[in-house]
Amino acid sequence: MADTIFDKIIRREIPADFVYEDADLVAFRDLHPQAPVHVLFVPRKPIATLNDLTPEDALLVGKLVLAATAYAKREGFAEAGYRTVFNCNHDGGQTVFHVHLHLLGGGPLRGGFGQ
Ligand code: AMP
Repeated sequence: MADTIFDKIIRREIPADFVYEDADLVAFRDLHPQAPVHVLFVPRKPIATLNDLTPEDALLVGKLVLAATAYAKREGFAEAGYRTVFNCNHDGGQTVFHVHLHLLGGGPLRGGFGQ
């Protein structure tokens, strides 16, 4: 897989505002936040898109989700609510081809389904 800006962030070659990291993933603030809190949860393993996940990645995807929910709880907005998003490929709006989970919260969010 081609190197992306997220690989460079993971290797600390370019700066990011990290909020969490462990052996499997890192989390840092989105450069162009779409909500009061907008954090990206990124596996260290370079996987381009959701379409490239394999069954052996199932635990990793679960860890991304759990890291995001734990962060929302720690930051105190879990009960109020939040949104998690994986964009995939062109029609899904994906711009960085290294799988990542968006966590958006910290206030009421617009544009949800059914609104
Ligand atoms: P997506 O459009 O789902 O691929 O999301 C990519 C996200 O990465 C966008 O929300 C960008 O604002 C964000 N982004 C791009 N470059 C950086 C960077 N250097 N640091 C933090 N976030 C970034």
